[in-house]
Amino acid sequence: MIIVIDGPAGTGKSTVARHLAQKLGFIFFDTGAMYRSVAWMVIQAGVDPKNREAVAQLLSEFTYEIKTETHGEKRYFSCGTDVTEAIRVPMISEAASQVAMYPEVRQSLVRIQREFGKKLSAVFEGRDMGTVVFPDADLKIFLTATPYERAVRRLRELQNKFPDMADSLRFEQILEEIQERDKNDCTRPESPLKKAVDAHCIDTSKLSAAEVIEKILKLVPKKKYSPMKFSYWSVYWMTRSFFKLCFRLKVYGLENFRPGCGIIAANHASNFDPPVLSVSCPEEVHFLAKDSLFHIPLLGRLIRCLNSHPVARAASDASTFRDLLKILQGGEKVILFPEGKRTPDGNLQPLERGLPFIMQKSQCPIFPAFIDGTFSIWPIQKKLPKLFGKITVIFGSPIEWSDFATLNKREAEKLILERTKKALEDLEKKLKNMRPR
Ligand code: C5P
Repeated sequence: MIIVIDGPAGTGKSTVARHLAQKLGFIFFDTGAMYRSVAWMVIQAGVDPKNREAVAQLLSEFTYEIKTETHGEKRYFSCGTDVTEAIRVPMISEAASQVAMYPEVRQSLVRIQREFGKKLSAVFEGRDMGTVVFPDADLKIFLTATPYERAVRRLRELQNKFPDMADSLRFEQILEEIQERDKNDCTRPESPLKKAVDAHCIDTSKLSAAEVIEKILKLVPKKKYSPMKFSYWSVYWMTRSFFKLCFRLKVYGLENFRPGCGIIAANHASNFDPPVLSVSCPEEVHFLAKDSLFHIPLLGRLIRCLNSHPVARAASDASTFRDLLKILQGGEKVILFPEGKRTPDGNLQPLERGLPFIMQKSQCPIFPAFIDGTFSIWPIQKKLPKLFGKITVIFGSPIEWSDFATLNKREAEKLILERTKKALEDLEKKLKNMRPR
């Protein structure tokens, strides 16, 4: 799904788009940062941004990378240099607005933006997203605000970002610059800033970012999951009712779920985990289970109906990975327990390398999930489960492949494991904090 947010500078686009993407589990793509990165390269090369020919000549040297750090913060690289902070200074804002007028610059950046949009669910923020780059976007938003309000916001933002420059920042100058950039953006012949006819317009002058996000969330088209097969559906509801009645099963974080391929990566504490997790999902999912589980009366039959696939050999077996990949490439979801085996003491164990391997091969997102309660009900040391207790499942924001796509294999593997471990730990903490004290 593609959501686009367009509008002039200072309307709160970046803040809104970033938080909206987080809430929906989508990628956030700031296209302004790309134009700023071109401007940065131009200035570094000692070229005047007003010299169209010289700027166009430099374009073949432009490379752009986005890297995501462990805590999710994005860093932007122009021609291999980290420019995350450097592109936010007023001089670059002006130069970006200048180079963004050139058709050569726009064409090459639009190509990259469309490439990203092909593979991912994302919120794109910019000026021409709804009119030029993604005319078929699933949702188009156009933000506006009075120039005065936008200048107030920009001044506050610059004061926070560059405290040593705070004394030299003048409101009148910022207002003038904003008006100048509006003029450039709205009057350029190539992709001028304008509202797409089918975009929803929101005036943010008197709204907080949270209020704008709330308005947009109401406009997001509902996710459509494929209907469950009858056999799956009947066992799903029977099993779900069983866990709800006997173990007061509660599920949180389902807003993080979306249709399409995905690896549901959860902690593993008990034989109950696969069926519990399956019936916590809003759509059909698949899981691999040790073939010994299929010999346990009732449980074996139930898990077979719930799309489980018996694994006879060790989980690291190549054929197991092939089966998983086939399912993922078919656009479906697979449950994986990256610890490899059940925890002996209820604590999260080190994660194995199977998860990053599968992610790298399939390029599907990881949906982290934490299951609480199954360890005390049916730990590894016990032959049979207790018949009461409380089980809670919580899903976290998806971890997207695009965050690792530009890294080498080793770096990606390390970061995928770190991000997943952190996501599971955070979900465990979140559940703990939700418990009544
Ligand atoms: O949004 P931001 O202020 O970071 O964008 C910097 C400049 O890049 C804008 O002033 C605008 O001229 C240009 N831009 C554009 N098209 C986009 C995004 C940004 O022309 N899609």
